[in-house]
Amino acid sequence: MPGPVMVVYSEKFSAEGYPYLKHRIKPAFQALKELIQRGLVEVIEPTVNDQAVHLLERLHNRQHINDVRYSGHYDVSLLSLAGVVQGAELLAEGKYARGFAFVGAAGHHASPNGFWGFCFFNDVAAAIYHLREKGLKRFLILDVDPHFGDGTRNFFKNDKDVIHINFTTGTKNEIDEEFHNYDYGLSFNADDQEFEEALNQALGKQFDFDLMFVIFGHDSHVTDYGGFAFSDAAYPMLTRKVIEFCGQRPLLWVLSGGSDAGVATRVIPEVIKVLATE
Ligand SMILES: [Zn+2]
Repeated sequence: MPGPVMVVYSEKFSAEGYPYLKHRIKPAFQALKELIQRGLVEVIEPTVNDQAVHLLERLHNRQHINDVRYSGHYDVSLLSLAGVVQGAELLAEGKYARGFAFVGAAGHHASPNGFWGFCFFNDVAAAIYHLREKGLKRFLILDVDPHFGDGTRNFFKNDKDVIHINFTTGTKNEIDEEFHNYDYGLSFNADDQEFEEALNQALGKQFDFDLMFVIFGHDSHVTDYGGFAFSDAAYPMLTRKVIEFCGQRPLLWVLSGGSDAGVATRVIPEVIKVLATE
């Protein structure tokens, strides 16, 4: 048994989150009640502190940060970033083996100088910047949100020590072995089987890394808004494959796109249950 899964959560993610994304947050968290009662999940609440503000200023330029202030989503986006950073730190310190971070706004479309698509600050990039100061060097990011993680790519495309794997709607695979950028194109309305075959291909390689992130957008579900058409069964399948691939190394899932509260309420507890028990 891997021990309890750390879940990063704040009430503010549902109260103040990005409007299109926030309605799934509270019901999905409440659906973890049984796992919490059984001791399979421990909840940590993030806080905005000087460290988070300092990281934000290293990541994004002043114009970007000011534009987020004007958008009205600054506070919840900074709290989301802080949660991913604080969760990743607890994993790096060995306090937990696996974690799942809720967020109030997503991160993977946030570049150093610009943002779009319900994303404001790049939470995973912030965690990598922070963990490098703690001595970790190599990271793997598996982005299964059906939208291409362009912001994350803009941070790390020339960084050989960040392996960036995307699944996105498209017709071909683009593989850059030198800088470890891997994009797997899945057809529009791709089903579970097509996803599983692409995952086998992507995770069939050997990679050296200290900590793994999964950027988890359930907008890939057939009833959600993204371009894939996965069933509920795709998510425990994904989780088992990730666990097998990641082995004993620390693993952090970071919530990304998805607005269907029914999907979130079913698949997020299922993912966390697999993380806690297998
Ligand atoms: Zn998406």
